[in-house]
Amino acid sequence: MFCINCHASNIENARFCNRCGRSLETVSNKSRMTALVLGVTLGTLGAHRAYIGKYTTALIQCATFVIPLAALIALYPWQTTSLLIIQLSLIGVSLVGNAIWVIVDVSQLISGTMTDATMKRVAR
Ligand SMILES: [Zn+2]
Repeated sequence: MFCINCHASNIENARFCNRCGRSLETVSNKSRMTALVLGVTLGTLGAHRAYIGKYTTALIQCATFVIPLAALIALYPWQTTSLLIIQLSLIGVSLVGNAIWVIVDVSQLISGTMTDATMKRVAR
């Protein structure tokens, strides 16, 4: 079993690395069910990612949802110009991208393959 911190080789079932002392536990202490509920309810805002400690991607995920919505409101009243069509297309791409991202995350949480900020599987 290899340490993800220092890459030292350790005996099978070792709990701590024999070189750097880091825990070799591969399952996150974050609850998979909590992450899943957050992903289903507030997933578009990146709540499940923030919960498992992935703050940077949580913020990006939130931005791909909030920025297009803010842009939609800012563009009101909507006009029928070609520029507006381009703007709405970009907003649509961002929202669809956000939706696909959340669906992938939720699928990974259901299957227990998602990892937290320290690369441990959220499977508990
Ligand atoms: Zn180590």
